[in-house]
Amino acid sequence: MGKTQHPGPQKKAKLPAPKYWVSPIPFGLGKIKPQHIRDTMKIAWDNKDNIGYATRIITKGVCDGCALGVSGLYDQTLDGPHVCTTRLNVLRLNTMPAIKPEILHADIDELRKYDSTELRKLGRIPYPMIRRKGERKFSRITWDDAMDLIADKMKKLDPKQYSFYLTARGITNESYYVAAKVARFLGTNHIDNASRICHAPSKTALKRSIGVGASTSNYLDWIGTDVLLFWGSVASNSSPVSSKYMLEAKKKGTKIIVVNPYREPAMDQYWIPSNPESALFGTKIADDFYQVNIGGDIAFMHGIMKHWFDMEEKAYGSAINHEFVAEHVNGYEELKKKLQNQSWEEIIESSGVSKGRIIELAELLANSKNAVYAWALGLTMHSFATDNISQVANLALLRGHLGRKHAGLMPFRGHSSVQGSGEMGADPFVLPGGGWDENNVERIEKLWGFDLPKWQGDIVGVTLENIVLPKDHERKVKLYYLSGGNFLETMPDPDFIEQALSELEIRVHQDIILNTSTLVDAKEAVIVLPAKTRYEQEGGGTSTSTERMVYFSPEITGNKNMIEEARAEWKIYLDIAKRVKPETAHLVYFADGQAIREEIAKANPDYDGIQHLKKQGDVFQWGGAWLCEDGICPTPDSRGTLIPVDIPDLNKKPEQFIVTSRRGKQFNSMVYKEVDPLNGAGRYDVLMNPVDGQKLSIAEGEGIVVYNGFGVFQGTAKFVDIAQGNLEVHFPEGNFLLPRGRYEKFAGIPDYNITVNVEKAERYNARKDTQYLEKPIADLETEVG
Ligand code: SF4
Repeated sequence: MGKTQHPGPQKKAKLPAPKYWVSPIPFGLGKIKPQHIRDTMKIAWDNKDNIGYATRIITKGVCDGCALGVSGLYDQTLDGPHVCTTRLNVLRLNTMPAIKPEILHADIDELRKYDSTELRKLGRIPYPMIRRKGERKFSRITWDDAMDLIADKMKKLDPKQYSFYLTARGITNESYYVAAKVARFLGTNHIDNASRICHAPSKTALKRSIGVGASTSNYLDWIGTDVLLFWGSVASNSSPVSSKYMLEAKKKGTKIIVVNPYREPAMDQYWIPSNPESALFGTKIADDFYQVNIGGDIAFMHGIMKHWFDMEEKAYGSAINHEFVAEHVNGYEELKKKLQNQSWEEIIESSGVSKGRIIELAELLANSKNAVYAWALGLTMHSFATDNISQVANLALLRGHLGRKHAGLMPFRGHSSVQGSGEMGADPFVLPGGGWDENNVERIEKLWGFDLPKWQGDIVGVTLENIVLPKDHERKVKLYYLSGGNFLETMPDPDFIEQALSELEIRVHQDIILNTSTLVDAKEAVIVLPAKTRYEQEGGGTSTSTERMVYFSPEITGNKNMIEEARAEWKIYLDIAKRVKPETAHLVYFADGQAIREEIAKANPDYDGIQHLKKQGDVFQWGGAWLCEDGICPTPDSRGTLIPVDIPDLNKKPEQFIVTSRRGKQFNSMVYKEVDPLNGAGRYDVLMNPVDGQKLSIAEGEGIVVYNGFGVFQGTAKFVDIAQGNLEVHFPEGNFLLPRGRYEKFAGIPDYNITVNVEKAERYNARKDTQYLEKPIADLETEVG
């Protein structure tokens, strides 16, 4: 039997639903909320020098904003226009002119005065540039000279000594695929991508639970499911148009439940710009919030499942879908035993949620035929993230909420195209179409016509640490090749990252704009290469959305601010291959984008169909409408597996807090406004519960210090509805509190949560000199001892 196919966009409900309005007063007057109309006018003004091209991008291109995915103005879920301010904000990256030469070639310290937002606004990188050791300015260089320099260095190095990294900045599947192939052709497996710092554990966890590392369902499944659960996700802010689907779901009777320490305003109520009813009166989104402690999700899910097993003791079949479990699931007895032995005290202590409330959700899910479980970085950026997500999969498997209409598991991805990065093989653990198992390696070697390096490549965090290895270490990374990315503002321990970036002999930044990482010194040279945007790529390109839709984005001509010297990213990788290994470079040669797509279809069988995408609007969904359809998983025995795990010990003392980071008005690390229009928080505000403030005699708006053994964050207390004992600061400002080297044990994502102490700034500052003096004395004593 063939797989069910996605039915395409459905009609929206015609009637308004005043019961979901935030207020009958139009435009949320008097409320703290985004000003979408004003923002849109400003963006149109910013693009006025290239408005025709901007309009063509919006109407013909595939959005390079978030991973929800839309081609032109119409999506695959609902009829009616689809556009949001996130998309409009990133539009300028595609339409702006080059950086003025007098700024670009100023003294490096002048450029360093700009932050990344200001650097982005300077314009695009116009031509290849170099800044050698000791030089104060970037100077122009030819493409040939730049590529020869990189290739000559690569020829001198062991391939274990150079690394590739690709961010998610609009990069197409074609570029990911060619980068993955060229890296292996050159002999290195050190290639990684942006999902390593956001969603790698989702893939790892789903793979071990159900055999496939992608969303099993569609946005359409939200509309009419009984329960739509968002776990550690602010989907309405990260993917604004998703709120349109949420409203439609509510109109069909779906209950929306949010599990998050902070009652995120955007998941509480939102004004959806592309829906006139919501734009005017707002939409109440969440039906209920569960304010779980940061790091308390496993305990919370254990509580739900423990109650299900209790229900089963009283009435067989009252909570567990036994038919589904018997036919499709392994590990039932082990999980049951584990949870029956788990104490409620431990569950309540770790989750921070009362037993009564946990039971409420457990019973709601037990009585729901269907549910869709969506999650984002609140679950993935922990050192136990794979275990977190395995527990979400456990919930779905026990209830049979998998592989059919209105039921499934959905890692909610952030950036357009990031879904495709691993599927194309730009990841140290995978190859296109599978892992590093003997069969897949043999298959890919046959297709590619050369032997693959057989050693395990390192994840991005480890390659950065490898830069500071001893001089003669075989894995000391000496050249880093970056396609986009700003490690200084995305990785923990920014001081170390700066040191590591400057220790590299050669650093290559293939990018559209400058950022703060581009300006760090290198021991021999920093080389900057101007990349084309996805809309400029000759012959177009494809990207894959969260729901596995592979969209074709055509080449869009007529850019008045065209960067003449910019090159398509996949072509740059081919050029390197040709210069490093000219005799065999024909093995990685592609004449055009179509040739790449033809090969992707063979390399990754899930992508069979990509070769037919040729014009605007062409799209297909790999894997069909639902993965694990009818409960049949792509595992050796076709069954999913329940994974028992322990509740993690966060090592938090009673007087301490756990801090995590959130985004404000920003897109990934790109900040668009200093104040978050959703809650009025400034970039250095520390979100805390007023009761915690009271305990520490901290008043709202007072200067406070958040600190631990790794860093100090000076901010201002902002009282919000967040679970007690938890704090939130903005990303990336809060990264100074995070040490390097704390990785998720299965997927290698850095942990972005940590225990901290909090004090009034005046008290901390009065005591800091004493504390500072004590430390060296303690160190001395240790050394003497
Ligand atoms: S919701 Fe995402 S895909 Fe849709 S327009 Fe906005 S940024 Fe683009």
